[in-house]
Amino acid sequence: MPMIRTHYSTQITPDMNGHSVTICGWAHEIRDLGGITFLVVRDREGLVQVTLFKKTIDKNVLETVRNLSRESVVAVTGNVKKEAKAPNGYELVPTAVTVLGKADSPLPMDTTGKVDADLDTRLDVRFMDLRRPYTQSIFRIRHLILKSIRRFLDREGFVEITTPKVVATATEGGTALFPITYFEREAFLNQSPQLFKQLMMSGGLDRVFEIGPIFRAEEHDTRKHLNEATSIDIEASFLDNEDVMVILENLVSHVYQSVADEGANNLKSLGVELNIPKTPFKRITYDEAIGIARENGEQIEWGDDLTTESEHSIGKTIGEHYFITDWPTKIKPFYAMPYENKPELCRAFDMMHPRMELSSGAQRVHSYELLRSRITEQGLNADGFEFYLKAFRYGMPPHAGWGLGAERLLMTMLGIENIREVVLFPRDRKRLSP
Ligand code: ATP
Ligand code: MG
Repeated sequence: MPMIRTHYSTQITPDMNGHSVTICGWAHEIRDLGGITFLVVRDREGLVQVTLFKKTIDKNVLETVRNLSRESVVAVTGNVKKEAKAPNGYELVPTAVTVLGKADSPLPMDTTGKVDADLDTRLDVRFMDLRRPYTQSIFRIRHLILKSIRRFLDREGFVEITTPKVVATATEGGTALFPITYFEREAFLNQSPQLFKQLMMSGGLDRVFEIGPIFRAEEHDTRKHLNEATSIDIEASFLDNEDVMVILENLVSHVYQSVADEGANNLKSLGVELNIPKTPFKRITYDEAIGIARENGEQIEWGDDLTTESEHSIGKTIGEHYFITDWPTKIKPFYAMPYENKPELCRAFDMMHPRMELSSGAQRVHSYELLRSRITEQGLNADGFEFYLKAFRYGMPPHAGWGLGAERLLMTMLGIENIREVVLFPRDRKRLSP
């Protein structure tokens, strides 16, 4: 079929009065008032009112529209007519209406926003849910986020890489893995690109990033965990923890600014007004974080990982994006660099939104001997890491990096409660289809 659309709804303006155009979209609403029939067509950008005057309209065109089922896909060719009362200030008087894809009724879900559907129903018929401007706006903002991240990191000299998701060994232990059958062997879905991006430092790529899936087999049932998530990862040579924190805060601020600049319409349909986070972000140490949580009445011991409740309570006190630095070495992965003069603490950080953790990062251990002993100290078998450890024996520069959860960045930016809302087809304990 040739390309028949000449315009999206928003590309037509009242001053095109008298021009013939062709739009393509879904039959959003059909109202037959006898002498006049309205067909509202919805395309990706908005709504178009198509007006059929019984007296003057071609009989076949009227018949087609009167028999149209809601949500069928149509192409409408018609003349633009300035009309102040119509959406965008114009209507179309059709000369031809073609049905390109008929919709059955009843519909599995309402798309007009008049009837609320619960999240499970919406996810079961995600194709239909996406027709709502609300849902579509979430994914168009996700696109803007990823686009601005690529632009920012490209300008900072980062090279985009793609690393394997089917792997032979665990990245860091602790996190549960999904085992899969790989020919006659057992393999796993990768929980993080960590080890591979570090190999790139020995390989001399200097600054790399990856935007890709990570798999976590934890049986979470929370509103901020998925079993398949998208991680934005960087790794950079000759930089330390503080250097990559600066890159991270500047990136977050750049992303917010880009979405505010380019996503105004989508933000409006979500009812969101963005506050651009100010840099530099506040930095508190792990010790200070524990102190704040305790002052707020949380029961937490030095050496514990932060509970969701502590995260909330510290976030409330700080009230904006912030970093927690100087973590106990024993609760961070083996590749986080311990302080030389105080090895019980390490050069790791978390970047937090007041509601939750968005990112974890660190300066990495780059000495072969230290790394090998750190792996063993964490109760892991160093033999399984041979492919990784080898890279540290033949010239590994000092390096640092972080991983930032794309879904958490998106949900906190938009003030969305449940992470499943911001994933097209979320994977959790119960959901594997669609
Ligand atoms: P949390 O403690 O909140 O479960 P984590 O410390 O286990 O997260 P990391 O391994 O540090 O997560 O991963 C880096 C980032 O990737 C996290 O800060 C988060 O933004 C994102 N992320 C990790 N696991 C998940 C998940 N299961 N679902 C969604 N995002 C995740
Ligand atoms: Mg973390």
